[in-house]
Amino acid sequence: MEKIITSYHPTEDGFYGEFGGAFIPEMLHANVAELQEVYLNIMNEPSFQREFDDLLRDYVGRPSPLYLAKNLSAKYGANIYLKREDLNHTGAHKINNTIGQILLAKKLGKKRIIAETGAGQHGVATATVCALMGIECVVYMGEVDIARQAPNVLRMKMLGATVEPATSGSKTLKDATNEAIRDWINHAENTHYIIGSAIGPHPYPDMVTRFQSVVSEEIMKQMEEKTGSPYPDYIVACVGGGSNAAGAFYHFLDNQDVKLVLAEAAGKGINSGHSAATSILGSEGIIHGCRTLLMQTDEGQIVEPYSLSAGLDYPGIGPMHAHLIKSGRAKVYAATDDEAMTAVMELCKEEGIIPALETAHALAILGRMDLKSTDQVVVSLSGRGDKDLNTFINYMNAKAN
Ligand SMILES: *Cc1c(COP(=O)(O)O)cnc(C)c1O
Repeated sequence: MEKIITSYHPTEDGFYGEFGGAFIPEMLHANVAELQEVYLNIMNEPSFQREFDDLLRDYVGRPSPLYLAKNLSAKYGANIYLKREDLNHTGAHKINNTIGQILLAKKLGKKRIIAETGAGQHGVATATVCALMGIECVVYMGEVDIARQAPNVLRMKMLGATVEPATSGSKTLKDATNEAIRDWINHAENTHYIIGSAIGPHPYPDMVTRFQSVVSEEIMKQMEEKTGSPYPDYIVACVGGGSNAAGAFYHFLDNQDVKLVLAEAAGKGINSGHSAATSILGSEGIIHGCRTLLMQTDEGQIVEPYSLSAGLDYPGIGPMHAHLIKSGRAKVYAATDDEAMTAVMELCKEEGIIPALETAHALAILGRMDLKSTDQVVVSLSGRGDKDLNTFINYMNAKAN
């Protein structure tokens, strides 16, 4: 986790170009300033790194394999490698970050953890590490989401977390975030707020990216072993807030020969009014404490995003990605619900792997990338699809009728 200084990394104030920063209520200033002050020092302490690495290995099951998907490769006419984050404990990349942040919270002497969650995946990952560490955990979740995501609510409760319903506004993720921030203001002394993606006020985007950067570190080693070069031609990842993409990109940011590709959710179609294609439809504004691209009305009201995949159903995008896209370093494609579902079925049939619906957006764009037979392409397989079985069932029933 060395400090690399280039334009793709944040300034001292957490800016990636014009994006990022920390736009927070005065009452959180002390907490956020403390985090900004200490996060790199703590993360670079050898004892911290050892504890983090040990847990990633023995608890999460890292390194996750890099798998050459031969059938998929034949289909797309390129060498397609899947970075198997779906094999992690709890079934996705999110646990890498929650383990890092809980260790950091312990170092800061915090006795209580709060988090917000939409579909419940980040809530489950947070409740998991709180159980592991014996720390009190409160997860805010919109009332509508609580009703939609009963299995994850049950998981969080089994893991000992308190799930607090957010009952204002649309009763979804952004309302849960508001409640979590209110809680943080009221318990700033003893509480750490675990944000689940590469979003939020500085230092969160950089901190989350660095905790997830174990993914690109492993990709380099694994590519070297498999091909003789640590550098693939492409890295492809889906993007909600941007943590799996940020982790898969991190060690390649400064090597322009490695092309970075993002897949966002077009929902029912980019211009259908039911979409989460933030980088295409978004404009600059402030969300969750940072300046970035977000979907908003002319009056600056956040537009409710839509995607069949709960993890990509977010109205903003991490500031690092906003900058990577704006500067031309990353290319972004959008995949619809239907395209993602087709990609789910394709990976099941071709490779015997059921991917998360979020992940399927990254697979869905492979056919549009103009790949050559010599290309080495790494796809971030961010999570497994078991959590999406109900969505798959409903989708197939709707298609059949
Ligand atoms: C949450 C989630 C995502 C989206 O979050 P990012 O921060 O953009 O990575 C993608 N894939 C899976 C499997 C998820 O659970």
